[in-house]
Amino acid sequence: MKAIQAYRYALDLTPAQERAALAHAGAARVAHNWALARVAAVMNQRAAERTYGVADADLTPAIGWSLPALRKAWNAPKDEAAPWWRECSKEAFNTGLDALARALKNWSDSRTGKRAGRPVGFPRFKSRRRSVPSVRFTTGPIRVEPDRKHVVLPRLGRLKLHGFGELRRQLAYKTQWNGGRLIVADRWYPSSKTCSGCGAVKTKLALSERTYTCTTCGMVLDRDLNAARNLAALATGVDTAGSGPVTGRGADRKTRPGGQVATKRQPGTAIADQTGTVPPQGRTTDHVLARAH
Ligand SMILES: [Zn+2]
Repeated sequence: MKAIQAYRYALDLTPAQERAALAHAGAARVAHNWALARVAAVMNQRAAERTYGVADADLTPAIGWSLPALRKAWNAPKDEAAPWWRECSKEAFNTGLDALARALKNWSDSRTGKRAGRPVGFPRFKSRRRSVPSVRFTTGPIRVEPDRKHVVLPRLGRLKLHGFGELRRQLAYKTQWNGGRLIVADRWYPSSKTCSGCGAVKTKLALSERTYTCTTCGMVLDRDLNAARNLAALATGVDTAGSGPVTGRGADRKTRPGGQVATKRQPGTAIADQTGTVPPQGRTTDHVLARAH
């Protein structure tokens, strides 16, 4: 079975990166519009020739609508149509040509009845103002950095991912696709204040206290390790409970327990990931723990 993974990110771009991204989207639009004009011109020319009684064999040669054909058509005149083409990844032009190839196919299939549903109109030119600028990269260096806060794209380089919410969503997708589950402890879950040994909960734990010392059972453990064990236990709780969210034990909640999500179990290989960052108001943190099962 072929699996396709999709990730959705928002990016924090520097002004220079934003210019570069928009330039690529512009390049996609230019290639799209150039090829559309060319396709339409050839179609009109052939139609006109037919009305003059030109034999089929003598008509202006048709231009292919497939992506390779459009790419070939674009290659020759690009120096003239887009003398700046070297400044952009070829993926940008490919984006525009691919969109056109699909649009032409949809229009053609719709006209001949091969495509059901609402009639599809002939492709329209993309407007600088009205079209959503977009570019698609399909080859080259494309990756999420190990820090999970940056992505790398051809030409555009290293781009900063925006916000924790996106990161969490990305983890949710990722674990789901890999057969794991994402469990989000709500923000009041006292993973740091709880003793991972006996479950006692401290009312206070200063950020400066890097070691957790339990006054109930005497356990002494690195603060982060103690918190990690609690999160792991929380995840196990979800596991043993079957499905659905589990209330963090000993939580001294100030909000209703609404932030927990347990995604569906799916078979397959699993990855384990863990991250916990971004205190939204500086008070406490969201904990995200993705675990294998
Ligand atoms: Zn204890």
